[in-house]
Amino acid sequence: MPCYSIHRKDGGKAILCGDLGPHCGDANCGDVGTYLCDYPVGDDKTCDMPLCHGHAFEAAPNIHYCPGHALLWREFRAAGGVTRELENVVPYKSKESTNEGS
Ligand SMILES: [Zn+2]
Ligand SMILES: [Zn+2]
Repeated sequence: MPCYSIHRKDGGKAILCGDLGPHCGDANCGDVGTYLCDYPVGDDKTCDMPLCHGHAFEAAPNIHYCPGHALLWREFRAAGGVTRELENVVPYKSKESTNEGS
């Protein structure tokens, strides 16, 4: 029967043994992997790393990323990645005035 090291709200830890599923994917964490990393890794697959409540970064409702992928996501956002993608979708009209003359 696997045992888990649960993070308590007061900062301490509690040991809990039972078949509660996979451990959190963080090497130093023995908590229960309640969540899975939803970060896309190609071919319709996601990272799927099991994550405890403390290590799951909630990027959107019901979308959780592991610590490594949360970092990538934050860098992507900080670099303006989301905005840039949106700007690429906007059709640019500034070229209309270049057909002057005949
Ligand atoms: Zn954890
Ligand atoms: Zn991940």
